[in-house]
Amino acid sequence: MADQPAANTLAARLARLGLRTDADFVLHLPLRYEDETRITPLADARPGIAAQFEVAVVASEIAYRPRRQLLARVRDGSAALSLRFLNFYPSQQKVLQPGARLRIFGEVHEGYLGPEIIHPRFHAVGAGEPLPECLTPVYPTTAGLGQATLRRLIERALARADLADTLAPELRRRLDLPEFAAAIRLLHTPPPEMTQAALEAREHPAWRRVQFDELLAQQLSLRRAYSARRARGAPPLAATATLTGALLAALPFRLTRAQQRAWHEIAADLGQPHPMQRLLQGDVGSGKTVVAALAMLHAVEAGYQAALMAPTEILAEQHYRKLATWLQPLGIEVAWLTGSLRKRDKEAAIARVGAGDTPIAIGTHALIEDKVEFARLGLAIVDEQHRFGVRQRLALKEKGTFAHQLAMSATPIPRTLAMSYYADLDVSVLDELPPGRSPVTTKLVAEGRRGEVLARVHQACRGGRQAYWVCPLIEESETLQLKTAEETYARLAAELPDLRIGLVHGRLKAADKAAVMAAFVANEIQVLVATTVIEVGVDVPNASLMVIEHAERFGLAQLHQLRGRVGRGAAQSACILLYAQPLGELARARLKVIYESTDGFAIAREDLRLRGPGEFIGSRQSGLPLLRYADLEDAALVEQARTVAEDMLQAAPERAAAHLQRWLGGREELLKA
Ligand code: ADP
Ligand code: MG
Repeated sequence: MADQPAANTLAARLARLGLRTDADFVLHLPLRYEDETRITPLADARPGIAAQFEVAVVASEIAYRPRRQLLARVRDGSAALSLRFLNFYPSQQKVLQPGARLRIFGEVHEGYLGPEIIHPRFHAVGAGEPLPECLTPVYPTTAGLGQATLRRLIERALARADLADTLAPELRRRLDLPEFAAAIRLLHTPPPEMTQAALEAREHPAWRRVQFDELLAQQLSLRRAYSARRARGAPPLAATATLTGALLAALPFRLTRAQQRAWHEIAADLGQPHPMQRLLQGDVGSGKTVVAALAMLHAVEAGYQAALMAPTEILAEQHYRKLATWLQPLGIEVAWLTGSLRKRDKEAAIARVGAGDTPIAIGTHALIEDKVEFARLGLAIVDEQHRFGVRQRLALKEKGTFAHQLAMSATPIPRTLAMSYYADLDVSVLDELPPGRSPVTTKLVAEGRRGEVLARVHQACRGGRQAYWVCPLIEESETLQLKTAEETYARLAAELPDLRIGLVHGRLKAADKAAVMAAFVANEIQVLVATTVIEVGVDVPNASLMVIEHAERFGLAQLHQLRGRVGRGAAQSACILLYAQPLGELARARLKVIYESTDGFAIAREDLRLRGPGEFIGSRQSGLPLLRYADLEDAALVEQARTVAEDMLQAAPERAAAHLQRWLGGREELLKA
């Protein structure tokens, strides 16, 4: 692109920090503050505590010991020490000439040659130069961009930016928040009386104001995206209940109350002249697929097509198989579209979808390739939506410009996170599992007792049941992961010679993967050795035992999803978590949570507590810029922001627009997915 700045220019460095407009600079707030209002005598320096000193340079030299480095010897009236620079510029070297008078800021350490400061900040001063009256802000920065430059640019932006308040005075009073301009100025240029502790405490009213504003921007943007999509219009899909009724009559089970409720909510949305934007959330095994099938049939009854996209081939394949067995008896053709199809089959499927000959298409990312065009897509469903990037979700929806959308997720999200991240969606929750499931017993077993676990697997399989054996996770290397999977497979095959063992992993060709899964479904494979490819969605009710090796390496959400693969039939199921000692503190905490709870929401809450929200939902997945200042666990503030956002969009849209402009500038497009 022509306007892309070269990688090493100032503009590029600023862009890396997201700094473009004046408002961006104004909202680039200090990480912490340094006290340069005082000078400490060198003799009083304490190791590990940063302080400012005023010194004279005694000598300086470039030394090779063994790396090229700049060393300067400095002193004040009380003591002497060394300054050491492993990276330096000629300009810095020039300042450090004998006789120069410097103010330096840094931490003293005991070095090889006595006390030293490595890479102190410094500048030359004249005799008697006055000290700053205020604390010095320290900003988040990036390589090659110094604090002084950043400070200068921020000061300039502060002087000319529009700092007008986007909150009305009576609202500020009600929420007990200071004025925007005052809060921002205080944080960038603290008044002399402010102490470091007061400023760095995030409960300071100035920080509260910034946090509130940030959450408000998030809520405004999500709500606005919701209204914008709603305004676009969609075909109202009239229910005739011919197909949905037939499926309900043919199912071997009755819907749970939660499924019925969700299905009614969805059906009501589909009948509206604006697009449904709904999330169907339900723990693993709560029965989301059948609800999706009903929704798709509703679209088909109304004369439209429906598409279901899944994040992995295994899952897409399984959906395809399941839906085909449900729908084909009703005379509904289901098309199958994945990247691994032979070219000829793929083209045929694309042609049938394009001509409107097939009412339902199921597949992976292949569904959103440019070549795929639907004749009249009425409903787009995305399963395990958190597995897709926002852009991919967006792409499926665009296949039917006016299509209704349903996202499905088994990741239970704690309430405050849901309020925040799903403020742009309506949510249906399946909070009930189908009857007849016996709860899964979880056991923690030290690796040394692997023999007992093998015996247990053997016994279950001889009794006609099946088992999953999940290989240790090796996140750093896919090659190693593969090797481990193959070794685990070989080892188990040797240890359990009279059982039929299979192996499935991410590197298998799609057709081979499908063959292995089909053999497992048919109980031709009794023990399925697997990597986390089986983590989402896989449904084989006869499998009643799951062993997870090196369970201490897995995340909580992952363990919960994996465990959800068993306990799907009537048989008493168990999940055995093999762990290696010694356990780290975090691993121990995770295993304790998963051992004590099978409730996805409780587990998610603990996960959030252990990991923090930034990790819990990556920004890529949520499509939201991560919050820089606010904390999503601050439920009260999130709730306030949400209420204010609703009011503001109704009563003061121009304030809302100004607020969004300040906080998000032009970076809102991703939020609209
Ligand atoms: P998930 O919500 O994890 O996607 P699935 O849709 O795969 O769950 O459903 C899990 C299993 O429960 C499937 O075998 C499905 O056929 C079965 N199931 C779904 N709803 C019911 C119900 N109301 N009663 C009994 N079994 C059900
Ligand atoms: Mg599912």
